[in-house]
Amino acid sequence: TVIDNTELHAALKKYFGFAEFKGLQQDVVASILQGKNTFAIMPTGGGKSLCYQLPALMQEGTAIVVSPLIALMKNQVDAIRGISDQNGIAHVLNSSLTKTEVRQVKQDIVDGVTKLLYVAPESLTKEDYVEFLQSVKLSFIAVDEAHCISEWGHDFRPEYRNLRAIVNRLDDGIPVIALTATATPKVQEDIIKNLGITGANTFKASFNRPNLFYEVRPKTANVDSDIIRFVKKNAGKSGIIYCLSRKRVEELAQVLQVNGVSAVPYHAGFDAKTRSKYQDMFLMEDVDVVVATIAFGMGIDKPDVRFVIHHDIPKSIESYYQETGRAGRDDGEGHCLAFYSYKDIEKLEKFMSNKPVAEQEIGNALLQEVVAYAETSMSRRKFMLHYFGEEFDEVNGDGADMDDNARNPKEKVEAKDDVVK
Ligand code: ADP
Ligand code: MG
Repeated sequence: TVIDNTELHAALKKYFGFAEFKGLQQDVVASILQGKNTFAIMPTGGGKSLCYQLPALMQEGTAIVVSPLIALMKNQVDAIRGISDQNGIAHVLNSSLTKTEVRQVKQDIVDGVTKLLYVAPESLTKEDYVEFLQSVKLSFIAVDEAHCISEWGHDFRPEYRNLRAIVNRLDDGIPVIALTATATPKVQEDIIKNLGITGANTFKASFNRPNLFYEVRPKTANVDSDIIRFVKKNAGKSGIIYCLSRKRVEELAQVLQVNGVSAVPYHAGFDAKTRSKYQDMFLMEDVDVVVATIAFGMGIDKPDVRFVIHHDIPKSIESYYQETGRAGRDDGEGHCLAFYSYKDIEKLEKFMSNKPVAEQEIGNALLQEVVAYAETSMSRRKFMLHYFGEEFDEVNGDGADMDDNARNPKEKVEAKDDVVK
């Protein structure tokens, strides 16, 4: 089937009210509509949901969407219902539904009303659901957050490994669509292998964020004063400071407050009410700075975060990219500053020492890349993009002068002399 450009734009306008596709969306949508296995790799915020929602709405049958988090599924279902007068156009199928609700979901699917059926991977192991899905018309299966299938990703979910076996039991030749914001070649290989989609049409957006400035500074005993100085220089601007431990989060937030910086702490140890209070204060700009563990940030969409500081180096380049990616969403300035000491690397290694050996090996390999990033004297942007399998021209590329090494070529930052490389 040839899909007409005008037809696609009309559907985009009709269902979502958008005049233009973003990035590679149109190519992904076209590939899905052609019934091809499709792999879309786009950064967070790139617009991956629309890539499967639009073809699902345009086609006959129901698209199954596998997603790891109930909250994410519910948001999407609400959003889709908002564009239709048919409540049954999108459903979540999971264990929290009553028998009556499940019956209604099944009826809507049988009646051809439901275009998008969201399921958690563990629900798909329920024999009753699989048997039902075998008996209805499906358009495709989309696996969102597909990196969950890989131990090299940041969020491994063993249940994702069963998906291929389930797909095999569904409609013959039903296309599989994988989507992720994880750009590392290792994770991508794992996704293709485990989902059995060798030869899939693959679309990969650039992960370059030209407006972000990357900087690494050695971490000394004065790190708190260094941070205070930085934040005071950027007074009035919004920023996030990541720390490894809850204790450090609370201490640093207090140190900042004592020094006249408006800051709140955030970590998973606070109750839900306190967490959302602090989060709102940051979003509403009642405070400039949030000092947080990595519990902060998922789904936070504040466009004008001007700096992201890492008081402690993260455990992988992938995490660093995600966390710094929260800066400069509006394409304005975004300063990403990491404090680095090899002692912190040793600390992270120690954290892993009670984990299974295979997991430790992966963790250490990821950590060594962080060391290499922190100690490199080359363009940090080039290093990071190379890690994501992307070539970057450090002379003419977009954002080429946007890191400390590019601005002032200097000797390597080495936190310790006896580091073996
Ligand atoms: P991802 O899953 O890749 O992180 P989302 O699917 O959540 O991204 O989309 C991010 C944002 O982009 C959403 O607010 C969405 O409405 C918006 N968006 C998606 N496609 C378009 C488009 N073609 N034009 C304008 N906004 C878009
Ligand atoms: Mg998404």
